[in-house]
Amino acid sequence: MSTPAMRMSTLFLRTLREDPADAELPSHRLLVRAGYIRRVAPGIYTWLPLGLRVLRNVERIVREEMDAIGAQELSFPALLPKEPFEATGRWAEYGENIFRLKDRKGADYLLGPTHEEMFTLTVKDLYGSYKDLPLSIYQIQLKYRDEARPRAGLLRGREFVMKDSYSFDVDDAGLQASYDAHRGAYIKMFDRLGFDYVIVKATSGAMGGSASEEFLATAENGEDTYVRCTSCDYAANVEAVKVPVPQAISYDGLPAAHAENTPDTPTIQTLVDHLNATFPRTDRDWQAGDTLKNVLVMVVHPDGRREPLAIGVPGDREIDEKRLGAQVEPAEIEAFDEGDFARNPALVKGYIGPEVLGGQAKSGIRFLLDPRVVDGTRWVTGANVPGQHVIDLVAGRDFTTDGTIEAAEVRDGDECPNCGRALETARGIEMGHIFQLGRKYAEALELKVLDQNGKLVTVTMGSYGVGVSRAVAAVAEGCHDEFGLVWPREIAPADVHVVATGKDEAVFAKATELTDALAAQGISVLYDDRRKVSPGVKFKDAELIGVPTIVIVGKGLEAGTIEIKNRASGDRRHVPVDQIVDALVSEVRGAAS
Ligand code: ATP
Ligand code: MG
Repeated sequence: MSTPAMRMSTLFLRTLREDPADAELPSHRLLVRAGYIRRVAPGIYTWLPLGLRVLRNVERIVREEMDAIGAQELSFPALLPKEPFEATGRWAEYGENIFRLKDRKGADYLLGPTHEEMFTLTVKDLYGSYKDLPLSIYQIQLKYRDEARPRAGLLRGREFVMKDSYSFDVDDAGLQASYDAHRGAYIKMFDRLGFDYVIVKATSGAMGGSASEEFLATAENGEDTYVRCTSCDYAANVEAVKVPVPQAISYDGLPAAHAENTPDTPTIQTLVDHLNATFPRTDRDWQAGDTLKNVLVMVVHPDGRREPLAIGVPGDREIDEKRLGAQVEPAEIEAFDEGDFARNPALVKGYIGPEVLGGQAKSGIRFLLDPRVVDGTRWVTGANVPGQHVIDLVAGRDFTTDGTIEAAEVRDGDECPNCGRALETARGIEMGHIFQLGRKYAEALELKVLDQNGKLVTVTMGSYGVGVSRAVAAVAEGCHDEFGLVWPREIAPADVHVVATGKDEAVFAKATELTDALAAQGISVLYDDRRKVSPGVKFKDAELIGVPTIVIVGKGLEAGTIEIKNRASGDRRHVPVDQIVDALVSEVRGAAS
């Protein structure tokens, strides 16, 4: 099939020499500078012709791999009535993240942030028997989320393209099979997209459900932190890491707790220094990990209720906001501010101790501990008196709590929950999320079918998402150099970028002939046929735009050759004019197959 070439003389494209002022990440800068996208509002972008081609290529790969596992494509509206979201509780749960609007009669609508309700209700509408299942359906569609921090261009948009699919099965074994099929499709998809990724254990967040994995593009600038074991194959988003719990220690015979004056110790380090100077240990020096830091936060529930929460963590660790966030979802975390302290006069800021907290029953404030703080461990912690800390306060003996929480940061060298060896941390961009949703939505929306025995059973579902527009940015983030973008062939906006240089008519005639010959073979060509643009500018644009194969028609013609340059490796070769079409066809097809 012949594909008409894009000619730069008429293409709706303007490359920019300057970086956009609001762009922090290379992918964002380059996609704007190379003329792929234009910002309209925070987190909202226009796709220009080159950008739209890349987006369509990503969609095509996603679609092909979904179709290959028998999933069927449909398309739901983005504009949705409120009622189904009320039935699942998400009209409230989503809080400020939803774009809400009213129609002329005053009825509430929303722009869909995700479509579980629609998928579930539509299947309920049409199907009623186990014979109808299994079923997997998907769409590739715009989603709307009023993200608190739209970021990095397409990476975290407020309007973005997502592929979402759902599987419907009568039983757990069916769900597992559907999940495995999707997992396989995702591996193929992400391999084809051409970036480095890892598959990590994940939490299932606001959606509920059990088994859950994320596909993260490895990227220094990613928002997600994950760990992998240096020894076994354990890998997890830090949000999903479960700290190995040490054995509880018997506290028989441990010394009694004693409060001591610790003036001028506003930080953990100053406290540790003071302890070593004034209350030295005989076995070793005091360390930050011997202190117990009690942090207060405010949990803001979707209905607006504000609930104070105290978290006790070893003093050498910070609270990780994302880990904490994942634990309290769909509620959100806010700072415990001066006003909150004023309303809780029993809490002495800077010296909050576990004894005054003592758990919900005692203080009215929920108090949760890092899982490492097991019974029998001894701590230096606040004494609830300004300028005093208590030493040898023993967990289980001297204070009570409401349980544990996974909220402390995970660090390089931490123990692997699987094999006990060292973990290492790295960053990534969440590209896809697959999980076994189970029966939550089916129950809320009463999606049942008759089983083999004529009994009504609730359907079990899987949920599978891919960030399609995010993938464009993630690939750009992983595939660029100092000169511009370097697209993997499968998603590049064109296969070949033909650059005609100089003023010679013969050059343009040859370049046009080559372009037409390639187009006739179904190869997509970006043809720089601009007459009054210098070769230097054309080369710069070619590097910036990042088509994988650049062909330079110019001076070489006198010697009967045309130059092929590989954008990624920088390798150049001169090919005789009469062999150029074949050489390019095999380069394009060879690499694609
Ligand atoms: P995140 O934690 O990054 O906000 P999420 O858990 O909310 O993601 P899902 O609801 O699972 O995301 O959505 C499925 C996929 O859609 C994600 O894996 C991600 O690739 C993509 N995605 C989610 N939010 C955005 C966004 N604001 N902009 C672009 N892509 C997004
Ligand atoms: Mg999100």
